Amino acid sequence: DAVLELSGIEKVYNRGEPGEINVLRGVDLTLNAGEAVALVAPSGAGKSTLLHIAGLLDLPDSGAVKIGGEAMQDLPDRRRTAVRRADVGFVYQFHHLLPEFSAEENIVLPQLANGVARGAAKDRARDLLATVGVADRAGHRPAALSGGEQQRVAFCRALANAPRVLLADEPTGNLDPETSDRVFGALMDLVRKTGLAALVATHNMELAARMDRVLRLDGGRLRAG
Ligand code: ADP
Ligand code: ADP
Repeated sequence: DAVLELSGIEKVYNRGEPGEINVLRGVDLTLNAGEAVALVAPSGAGKSTLLHIAGLLDLPDSGAVKIGGEAMQDLPDRRRTAVRRADVGFVYQFHHLLPEFSAEENIVLPQLANGVARGAAKDRARDLLATVGVADRAGHRPAALSGGEQQRVAFCRALANAPRVLLADEPTGNLDPETSDRVFGALMDLVRKTGLAALVATHNMELAARMDRVLRLDGGRLRAG
């Protein structure tokens, strides 16, 4: 079933000004539960813009974003923010973990902010860390972890509140090939085990080919590729 649906998404920056740029020109996308889709695009093609619109961090100029079948553009800002916090997780090229907290605390904190009791939050953090193979690193601060471990913890944090959609922007772009491979494997495990829907922007064609589908963003539109 469709978790995220984009239809006719258009985005223009600097409208009516000299730097006007029509970044998205009618993007359609359906992302189903339990599937990982690769988003491939040359730099500047509008990949970050698309991920931000899909993740409710930015609004399109026209078109519709639906999450769980509900049209987001009709919601008041506060409600849309609540949907983003509950249903969308983000992972970036650099982990952005809080340096003064342990791996486990980095996964507990977003749950506390979401009203989960500390004990339950810790249990979930440990389960997530075990799923991606870094249970033994729960008590370490990010600086004491390897790059691959840091990025696996970042995935756990993104999934702390059990979102339905994971949006990842070059999540392995900062890792060596072997580590990248392991981190990607952990991501695919999470997708398969939890029914998560993942949209993963990457330049790595080998990883893209291991996902369920590859979509190419070119000229402001998505096409199979
Ligand atoms: P990508 O992530 O594929 O590199 P972006 O979505 O970041 O692409 O940007 C697409 C285009 O839109 C680029 O030409 C970029 O300079 C431009 N752009 C992105 N954000 C803004 C903004 N806030 N204001 C104006 N132009 C922007
Ligand atoms: P807010 O307090 O505005 O709801 P949160 O701190 O709850 O923001 O962020 C929710 C998610 O959205 C986090 O995963 C965060 O990384 C991401 N996020 C928030 N603002 C931005 C932004 N401007 N650009 C990219 N990601 C963002």
